[in-house]
Amino acid sequence: MPSCKNCRNDVSKVYDCEHTKFEEYCKECYTELHYYLTEKNK
Ligand SMILES: [Zn+2]
Ligand SMILES: [Zn+2]
Repeated sequence: MPSCKNCRNDVSKVYDCEHTKFEEYCKECYTELHYYLTEKNK
């Protein structure tokens, strides 16, 4: 099972992109990261 590089939780699905530096994040951390990124760009 993959684990999130941010919160270290084991999750069934992970996500990555350039914002996570292509590290695998769980959905929660991934969403949170993008939430802050969008807020910054406002
Ligand atoms: Zn996480
Ligand atoms: Zn991204």
